[in-house]
Amino acid sequence: MKLDAPFNLDPNVKVRTRFAPSPTGYLHVGGARTALYSWLYAKHNNGEFVLRIEDTDLERSTPEATAAIIEGMEWLNLPWEHGPYYQTKRFDRYNQVIDEMIEQGLAYRCYCTKDRLEELRHTQEQNKEKPRYDRHCLHDHSHSPDEPHVVRFKNPTEGSVVFDDAVRGRIEISNSELDDLIIRRTDGSPTYNFCVVVDDWDMGITHVVRGEDHINNTPRQINILKAIGAPIPTYAHVSMINGDDGQKLSKRHGAVSVMQYRDDGYLPEALINYLVRLGWGHGDQEIFSREEMINYFELDHVSKSASAFNTEKLQWLNQHYIRELPPEYVAKHLEWHYKDQGIDTSNGPALTEIVTMLAERCKTLKEMASSSRYFFEEFETFDEAAAKKHFKGNAAEALAKVKEKLTALSSWDLHSTHEAIEQTAAELEVGMGKVGMPLRVAVTGSGQSPSMDVTLVGIGRDRVLARIQRAIDFIHAQNA
Ligand code: GLU
Repeated sequence: MKLDAPFNLDPNVKVRTRFAPSPTGYLHVGGARTALYSWLYAKHNNGEFVLRIEDTDLERSTPEATAAIIEGMEWLNLPWEHGPYYQTKRFDRYNQVIDEMIEQGLAYRCYCTKDRLEELRHTQEQNKEKPRYDRHCLHDHSHSPDEPHVVRFKNPTEGSVVFDDAVRGRIEISNSELDDLIIRRTDGSPTYNFCVVVDDWDMGITHVVRGEDHINNTPRQINILKAIGAPIPTYAHVSMINGDDGQKLSKRHGAVSVMQYRDDGYLPEALINYLVRLGWGHGDQEIFSREEMINYFELDHVSKSASAFNTEKLQWLNQHYIRELPPEYVAKHLEWHYKDQGIDTSNGPALTEIVTMLAERCKTLKEMASSSRYFFEEFETFDEAAAKKHFKGNAAEALAKVKEKLTALSSWDLHSTHEAIEQTAAELEVGMGKVGMPLRVAVTGSGQSPSMDVTLVGIGRDRVLARIQRAIDFIHAQNA
């Protein structure tokens, strides 16, 4: 059988892996981890990565899901050298291979009616035999190809299929367990397992990294690959991800879609680092740069057992990356959240400054954007609890005095604003907090912000003075 080589594959590339999602929904974290492992294995070996969209299930596949998966892969920064390829565009090729297989006696047309097949199954069940096709049509030549038929692969009847799974070790399945698989339906469409086989061959895939839910397909696919004379890739079946309660990960446990993590304020670096550790390790190291992941990644260190998703650890990693990545980079991602929350950042501090100010305080970028709104926009009301707590006693007096001092400053910087607060406290003979806290609530609306000098400089003099006045008026109105 002849290899179709439309893909311009470099024969010098020794390792080529693929991610082959079915576009029936968003990219979920389990799929993303499989993609990451596949990608890392390729990169570790100076190989190539293929993206293939397995969209043959026309009823369940949608272009929106394809777009969502691609968006997820791009956000995670897992670029591919080849693709995206679409199986629906390759039906001619699949049919060409099927026709050749029929010609060579590797596959045969089956004209059995549904009724006959049901009867067969019934008898087999009664005799306590494993239901399987009895090859009636392999020997019966009374039909013409114009009649409705399916095409079946002539699976070997003897021996067994053995493969060394790179994660799970040696797996052996007896051929007596396998049926003569339908590879083309009555309507002429090739079936899923067959398309995968032809694609892995044509696309020069050397290592198939995929979810363990596909492990039953592997012996069938290997038999077809062998029959058509294609090389057998190495298989690596990756375990499932569970929620923290040990049940299969689902929406009930929180976000499962990769893009939901973006929306919730995670950096792709955090999610990638989280996913790489979820089922793979290198000693007890927790934080991995991309280079380190690529250098250290080996399939034989991938865990066989299911992993449990732990949102707290992901948050910890997120905060680590918010703190450690260059503020310019974090700011780019932060910008998305301001837009998402409808905050106009054109009038206020640079976003890199926001990152520097708030990196220690925020676990997510969503939180960073929402908790820094006051740097860019006026707020409607003071946080009720904060106002109650800090706008009492002689808060109005403290605010009036600090306003006077801030107004008089010749330069608006960290040092001078800090001094203004300190002097106010000294003159009123109160602790710094008695000035600082009312001031914080006055200018931010809440009881939480970075240190006051940093906050004041970030907000800017005009806004600060106007907001202090507003707070004074508010206190007077309340006491009136
Ligand atoms: N399309 C399959 C899925 O989304 C993957 C099949 C494979 O990797 O071989 O589960």
